[in-house]
Amino acid sequence: MKILLISIIVILFGVSNKNDKEVYICVSKTAAKYHLTGDCKGLSECTHTIKKVSLKKANELGYKNLCGYEK
Ligand SMILES: [Zn+2]
Repeated sequence: MKILLISIIVILFGVSNKNDKEVYICVSKTAAKYHLTGDCKGLSECTHTIKKVSLKKANELGYKNLCGYEK
């Protein structure tokens, strides 16, 4: 029973990570790039709120490109 439960958890997390990758964005009118890590150099320059969202959501909000430091 314990093994079954662990397998279900692993499967659920695996699927959600693949389809809904999380990125960081700086909530600002001038920001247009997303970041893969929360402690990125580009994000440290953000004077506004830093938000963690899914990549899909970031694209919808207009954050279409990966930040220059993480390429
Ligand atoms: Zn970055």
